[in-house]
Amino acid sequence: SPILWWVRRDLRLSDNPGLAEAAATGRPVIPVFLNDEGVAVLGAAPRWRLGEGLAAFARALAGVGSRLVLRDGPALPALERLVAETGATAVWWGRLCDPVSRTRDAEVKAALKARGLEARSIPGHLLHEPWEVKTGQGGFYRVYTPFWRAVAPREVPAPVAAPAHLRAPDIWPDGAELADWRLGAAMGPGAEVVAPHACVGEQAAHARLAAFVAQRIDAYDSDRDRPDRDGTSGLSENLSLGEISPRTVWHAGLRAREEGRPGAETFLKELVWREFAWHLLYHTPEITERNWRPEWEGFPWSQAEDAAVLRWKQGRTGIALVDAAMREMYVTGRMHNRGRMIVASYLTKHMLVHWKVGMDWFAECLIDWDPASNAMGWQWAAGSGPDATPYFRIFNPDTQAEKFDPEARYRRRFVAELSRSPGAEALAFHRAAPARWGLTPDMPYPAPLVGLKEGRQRALDAYGAFKR
Ligand code: FAD
Repeated sequence: SPILWWVRRDLRLSDNPGLAEAAATGRPVIPVFLNDEGVAVLGAAPRWRLGEGLAAFARALAGVGSRLVLRDGPALPALERLVAETGATAVWWGRLCDPVSRTRDAEVKAALKARGLEARSIPGHLLHEPWEVKTGQGGFYRVYTPFWRAVAPREVPAPVAAPAHLRAPDIWPDGAELADWRLGAAMGPGAEVVAPHACVGEQAAHARLAAFVAQRIDAYDSDRDRPDRDGTSGLSENLSLGEISPRTVWHAGLRAREEGRPGAETFLKELVWREFAWHLLYHTPEITERNWRPEWEGFPWSQAEDAAVLRWKQGRTGIALVDAAMREMYVTGRMHNRGRMIVASYLTKHMLVHWKVGMDWFAECLIDWDPASNAMGWQWAAGSGPDATPYFRIFNPDTQAEKFDPEARYRRRFVAELSRSPGAEALAFHRAAPARWGLTPDMPYPAPLVGLKEGRQRALDAYGAFKR
């Protein structure tokens, strides 16, 4: 009898342990993706990117004699219908540890088991399951460095090969058309602007990893901090949808380290930040909702979606580095890590706006959106999170620019108003931006929304008063 392989955030054939195991049984495998609770929570850009990823994965499945069956959710009734139609006796899937998936999957697993079906979740989205890494006292880690020390020596399973063939069922169940789901609808004209910057699918992800190890890993230690250089792997986009397995990336990093490549250790450490984020999200799922440090409840952050917040979203704060980073996200669907830290600091400190406002905007705009890294990143920047920057350490975008964008290349690349002959990417921002914003490239560049000095002082005063 067939196995239903429930595809979620693991759009890959290679190093997909559950799919490989299903293929190895010799039974028919029916890969199915559901437009369900997990899709409903996605913002515009990650939803568009999911659509691109699904199209690529459907082609990859066709290449091994299989298909991607699309069905509408919610998950449980959709799976139950498929079981009834196909005579499947097993439903397997790759495990996810975010709160939405955990709630849904627990319900699905219990219900399927109650009907006598084999319901199994199989690891593969992380290097280690969040409960496997334990402190000496048996608890979870709240600080990154000891977490890294615990993870670094752990054995990571070797990548498993892609199945050469997936046995098809005698009759394929029918399915929805991807185009009918209109996963890109909320992106509007932005989809065409972002598309050339996306790197879609399993093959592209592997090529990206190979190019990074061949060309950029040696300079990674210093270049990774430079938004004006292409110094990082870009793999977050692919890891988010599981187009590449973190284990594959880990082993590539390990090999590079064994070969003595200088940036390899730092790269492994960065990958473990992702792991740490998922560890925290599993053990403290409230990290997406509330201040991780409860003592921050009541801090006088504004949560209003007011004119100031709109200017931050538009990249029109008048602080060039902040604006460049915000527009980079709008045009490419990504933002350099340094940019993320700087815009988050400016919003939560200079502007005194709640980190949730920023986290939600990132969730709307990032094609590498990841619920764990996004929540951890925002709470880190705001000072309310685990292992966070202290609140009084306030990024100064001007100093940051001098250090990390010394020739203003990044700022000019994305902010049309700063350049006499703006390039394609700077101009693309105005094509992607919604018409209701009424922005044109010849608008004068605005004066600072909140000056760096006054904003810093205001943040420190608010913090001082709050602590008292
Ligand atoms: P590389 O430098 O090539 O790093 C390799 C991999 O390590 C990344 O692909 C990523 O999986 C992991 N990694 C690196 N830095 C971090 C980090 N700080 N935290 C967690 N994992 C990391 N990352 C996301 O994937 N999705 C998000 O939604 C997201 N939101 C963020 C929000 C804020 C406010 C901040 C400060 C950071 C956020 N990050 C997020 C983390 C980080 O910015 C990105 O992972 C990184 O920029 C991805 O680029 P890269 O793949 O080229 O990274």
